[in-house]
Amino acid sequence: MSPARPTRDRCASCGGPLNNNYYTLLDRPERYCARCIATRPRCATCGAPLGAAHWSLHDGRLQCANCHATAVYDPAVARGLFDETVTGVVAQLGLTLNVGVAFRLVDAPTLEGIRASGGNVPPAGYNTLGLYQRQGYIRAIYMLYGLPRLGFRTTVAHEYAHAWQGERCPLLRDEMLREGHAEWVAYYHLRWLGCGKAADRMLTSQHPYRPALDQVLELERRVGVAGVHAYLMQAE
Ligand SMILES: [Zn+2]
Ligand SMILES: [Zn+2]
Ligand SMILES: [Zn+2]
Repeated sequence: MSPARPTRDRCASCGGPLNNNYYTLLDRPERYCARCIATRPRCATCGAPLGAAHWSLHDGRLQCANCHATAVYDPAVARGLFDETVTGVVAQLGLTLNVGVAFRLVDAPTLEGIRASGGNVPPAGYNTLGLYQRQGYIRAIYMLYGLPRLGFRTTVAHEYAHAWQGERCPLLRDEMLREGHAEWVAYYHLRWLGCGKAADRMLTSQHPYRPALDQVLELERRVGVAGVHAYLMQAE
C-alpha cells in the first residue's frame, strides 16, 4: 500500500478520513484526526503526531519527516550555518564581539546537563534548543543537533545576542530585557533572511518570550535600533 497523499480531507499522520472533524497545530496547515492527536508519539521538535515516516535520533528524540527534511545533523554544516548567522547579525545590527564565542553542536542530554550546571531555569512551556554559557574563560553557544535549518538559525541569532549582552552589558540583569532583546535579534535575522512570514509569526505566537519581544519592539519604535543598543548598555 502506498502512503496516503497529503490532502485536507485526510489525517496528515495516519491518512484516515477526517469527515470535517480534525485538529491542527498552531501555525501549521496539516490536519490530524482525534485518535492521532490523542495517541501518537509527537515530534520532539515541532510537536506534530508522528506518521509512519519518522526518524529516531540517537538521544531518543523522535523527529517528523517535515522537520527531518531540513534538519542540521552534521557538525560541519552546523558550523557553516552558525558562521553565516553571526555574519548576518553583525552586518544587519552591528552586534560585534571582542572576545568572540565558541560553538558546539550537542545532543539533548548534553544540552540539558549544561543548562542545569549553569542554574538556568527556562520558563514553563519553553523547550531549550540552544544555550549561551560562560564558564570561567569559556564562552560558548551550545546548539541542539537535528533542528530544522530555520529554527537553528533563529536560535543561534537569539543565543548570539546573549553572548553580545555578556560582553557589552555586563550589568544587565533584567530578564525581560535580556530575553526580549535576544528575540528581537532573532526576529530581525528572520527578516534579513527574507523569511517575513516566519518573522510575523513571532509577533502573534504564544511563546513565553513574546511579551518581552513586544517590549523591545516598542522601545525600538521610540529610540531606533542604535537607541536599543545604547539603552541596553546602560540598563541593569
Ligand atoms: Zn490520524
Ligand atoms: Zn516535526
Ligand atoms: Zn534567551
